[in-house]
Amino acid sequence: MPDRLTMQDPRSQYPKPPFPKQPQPRPGIAGKLEPRPDHGEKSYVGAGKLTGRKALITGGDSGIGRAAAIAFAREGADVAIAYLPSEEADAQEVLTLIEAEGRKAIGLPGDVSDENWSRQLVEDTVKGFGSLDILVINAGRQQWRENVGEVTSDDFDKTLKTNLYALHWITQAAVPHLPAGASVITTASVQAYDPSDILLDYATTKAGIVAYTKALAKQLIEKGIRANVVAPGPFWTVLQASGGQPQEKVAHFGERSRFGRPGQPVEIAPVYVLLASQEGSYITGEVFGVTGGAGLA
Ligand code: NAD
Ligand code: MG
Repeated sequence: MPDRLTMQDPRSQYPKPPFPKQPQPRPGIAGKLEPRPDHGEKSYVGAGKLTGRKALITGGDSGIGRAAAIAFAREGADVAIAYLPSEEADAQEVLTLIEAEGRKAIGLPGDVSDENWSRQLVEDTVKGFGSLDILVINAGRQQWRENVGEVTSDDFDKTLKTNLYALHWITQAAVPHLPAGASVITTASVQAYDPSDILLDYATTKAGIVAYTKALAKQLIEKGIRANVVAPGPFWTVLQASGGQPQEKVAHFGERSRFGRPGQPVEIAPVYVLLASQEGSYITGEVFGVTGGAGLA
């Protein structure tokens, strides 16, 4: 049994700050993060909860999306991951891990802020797998800015395109392919409820993701499809070191959570599995917080 599953005090289960300052250009490479995050590579144990399902995860190369990809494959699903071309090194590791489970893997490099690509990546997944049962919209852009005057139109445009427009384009392309029993999972943030001063545009998109998903859930249940939101608190991913937070905050990331540490991506993967699987059969239109004790106000 991996140590992750042994009963223990969760506050001391994973590394605590301070962490080294480690700037990377956006979108960053998880393989260069110090300490290395636990995405479940060695620690996630599956139980056949998604046997035979076909899943698509945007941002599946690193962080929370990677943890979901590894967990889904261990639960028996074929998994396609979408990511930016500069993230090929991270993506290849994930594709290898999926195939190591005897599952099919599809890599989809491209920029989801481009409408054509957002639609195309859905078609490529359906073509490759023959169907689509689980859609995880998780790719995100987060760039901190000191004050409102520094948030350029370009920032606003790129953050909204990546976090909100792509959500709409990918969902619109996917819905005609989703059968009854399918599950859509979006990734918002505590920022939707308790926005930081330095994340104006990002927090706005996260509140939008919550509203969009709740509205979508009301439509999709008419087809027997569920849709839910996961709202993470501080998780140790490259999003923060590659512009999401100032480096002083990266060094102390998660310190002010009630655990005194950030979450590791594998610690949120079971929520994605629950929402994707038939065990979540009565769960739709909900927001699942995994916030490190902050709650969703
Ligand atoms: P991450 O950097 O590992 O993952 C984000 C992924 O988004 C990248 O790997 C990249 O593949 C993808 N992406 C970004 N811009 C893209 C574009 N234009 N086209 C295609 N793909 C693009 O970081 P993460 O923390 O795992 O982020 C996953 C999700 O979790 C994001 O939506 C993020 O907002 C959300 N989230 C993270 C935290 C946290 O503390 N890490 C907290 C709350 C919410
Ligand atoms: Mg990445």
